[in-house]
Amino acid sequence: MALATIPGYPRIGKRRELKRALEGYWSGKRTAAELNETAATIRRANWEAQIAAGLDIVPVNDFSLYDHVLDTCALVGAVPSRFGWDGDVVGPDLLFAMARGGAGGEAAMELTKWFDTNYHYLVPEFSPGQTFRLASDKPFAELEEAAALGVPAKPVLLGPVTFLLLGKMHEGNVDPLSLLDALLPVYAEVVRRLAAGGAAWIQLDEPALVLDLTPDQIAAVERAYAALAEAKGAAQLLVQTAYGRVSEAYPALAALPVDGVGLDFARGPENHDLIARHGFPTDKRLVAGVVDGRNVWTNDLVASLDLLTRLQQHVPGERLLLSTSCSLLHVPYDIGLEEELPEAIRPWLAFAEQKLAEVVTLTRAVNEGSAAVSTALAANRAAIASAASSPLRRNEAVRRRLASLPDDADRRALPYAERAARQQQRLRLPTLPTTTIGSFPQTAEIRNARKEANTGALSAAAYEAFLEGQIADVIARQEALGLDVLVHGEPERNDMVQYFGEQLDGFAFTRHGWVQSYGSRYVRPPIIYGDVARPAPMTVRWARFAQAQTGKPVKGMLTGPVTILNWSFVRDDQPREATCRQIALAIRDEVADLDAAGIAVIQIDEPALREGLPLRHADQAAYLRWAVACFRLAAAGARPETQIQTHMCYSEFGEIFPDIDALDADVLLIEHARSGEALLEVFRTEGYAKGIGPGVYDVHSPRVPDVPELTARLRAILTVLPADQIWVNPDCGLKTRKPDEVWPALENMVAASRVVRQAARSLPSAD
Ligand code: GLN
Ligand code: ZN
Repeated sequence: MALATIPGYPRIGKRRELKRALEGYWSGKRTAAELNETAATIRRANWEAQIAAGLDIVPVNDFSLYDHVLDTCALVGAVPSRFGWDGDVVGPDLLFAMARGGAGGEAAMELTKWFDTNYHYLVPEFSPGQTFRLASDKPFAELEEAAALGVPAKPVLLGPVTFLLLGKMHEGNVDPLSLLDALLPVYAEVVRRLAAGGAAWIQLDEPALVLDLTPDQIAAVERAYAALAEAKGAAQLLVQTAYGRVSEAYPALAALPVDGVGLDFARGPENHDLIARHGFPTDKRLVAGVVDGRNVWTNDLVASLDLLTRLQQHVPGERLLLSTSCSLLHVPYDIGLEEELPEAIRPWLAFAEQKLAEVVTLTRAVNEGSAAVSTALAANRAAIASAASSPLRRNEAVRRRLASLPDDADRRALPYAERAARQQQRLRLPTLPTTTIGSFPQTAEIRNARKEANTGALSAAAYEAFLEGQIADVIARQEALGLDVLVHGEPERNDMVQYFGEQLDGFAFTRHGWVQSYGSRYVRPPIIYGDVARPAPMTVRWARFAQAQTGKPVKGMLTGPVTILNWSFVRDDQPREATCRQIALAIRDEVADLDAAGIAVIQIDEPALREGLPLRHADQAAYLRWAVACFRLAAAGARPETQIQTHMCYSEFGEIFPDIDALDADVLLIEHARSGEALLEVFRTEGYAKGIGPGVYDVHSPRVPDVPELTARLRAILTVLPADQIWVNPDCGLKTRKPDEVWPALENMVAASRVVRQAARSLPSAD
């Protein structure tokens, strides 16, 4: 019989209970016992929801207080030495110190993106010759807890190969996989204990199998599972992949001595072709991830059944486990909570709970035939049809405009050198001009005013007056400090994507649709359900006001199309590129309106450009082509004499540097302060001709940098790039900093620029 399961469930609690519990614990307002109780309540509610939906096998140990990769570090005793671990069980306080920094000033572990999702994990730190030992009983305790509640539990572990590949070797240029033999005995012990604890299935997540892998890496997978198979006892081992196609790893994966293999058929439709080409082993179950676990759209059950019919030519129905394509960690809990979403679009949406029902319906259809689920299928067909034919999906004017754009619509009217000359004539900037990235501190005062405006306690007029006061204040401060290109400070923005989404057609917002980004930080991504259009200017009113306060240029501040796309749930009935072009057109109109309003510098932020990069190298060029084209389409709304700046808060450009150049922004403001010399090295080797502002100080720290260190930073930049190209700015926006950190730092930054400017006098400048 086919069975229903999923690889994992959201773990923050339907009402974000975990956030309150964690933050309460960190601030000392809640005890460890209270935190544990909340955690247990969330786990229990999750299991009950899955059992009520009709799942046959329920993931356990997919819960985490902070991060499952961190939990794995604790499980195998991979604790960086600076935390002074005594070798005993890793308790919550040590765990949180590793995640957030220790009380003695020990630096937190590094946080980075989990595959191509917006989830972030803590990067395991290894050292050569490192040893491992079992140092947590979390999986066993949670299995016991589930078993006591009668849950048909499938303990979930991060697989040993992915765990090592996600980590970094500190000191020494050694491959983390060289630690596999040291690690495997601990994993074997865990598997043995879970099997002894009664686990019928044990899931080992190996999403790294969807990356471009070398033969050595694939051999490591074979070695790992040969060892674990010996430890499994009566339990069945399941190697679960996600986020794409397994390609070159498929033959090895199919031949592993395990009992099941999980494949993602949503992001990796090619997984079907691999099965068709190579066949599927007769000694294994296939976990068929047919319901997309990454998006929020109602599954087209007829299409999924069609795929399942095709799969059954290679895998008999009784050896199928029906599943979502990945853990449901990446989607909100329940569309049922969203009472304020437009009635018309609610049936189009499926969050975690709804996806459980979809998996169960598909499982029944496989086991009993479609007739057994005819009611569900009819309702689903109606929802899919209503979405497909809804006028809310389509905006013919936008489609016509995009279809008839001239070929050169994504090209500025003049090449960079000519634009730069005109811009300099207009702006008359000194050498080494100073600027900031856009936001100033979002103080409690600003947040309260926004809250009161939302509830109606503050009238619209009073709120506008308040915002004008905030803007006038930061403009005056920037003028007093002597900054050259000013910003309005973004006090009117809740979030750099939401602010624009709320003013664009085609976007919907949830109230409870939280998704974990990292630790206790959750985001509520907008949902792009229809064609995107801009009914009216979005920022011009504030830009105009800000510019009226000063004779210095004030930047218009926009979020770029690729970032808006990558930080939203995007409709899946057309290519992402098509949606991105619609957003680009809306931003282009905003650029043109700012330009017409006399704004001489417009910044289009693209911090999420690199985030959208596909996992496999072969897919990256196509993404970059359209992503860059979308940015250019937006930027080309400006006249040549209007300067386009862009900002990205990372600097590991690696191979994408030519694409960054191809954005053709007049000025690129990027994070630099934490990157060591890596960024400068790129400029040294690749060369760069346009304006460039490598951030001179890290905004993630409350520390105020002094003039000498900022001067030294600038001088280092000057050894690589000519003075007339360089801008002086912080690494990123300043909205999370306190005012008394921000203003002294900027004062020092301006002073440093002046010191170095004096020395660079001989160079061409309008100073
Ligand atoms: N302009 C935005 C700000 O200053 C940019 C934020 C970002 O890079 N993520 O806050
Ligand atoms: Zn940034």
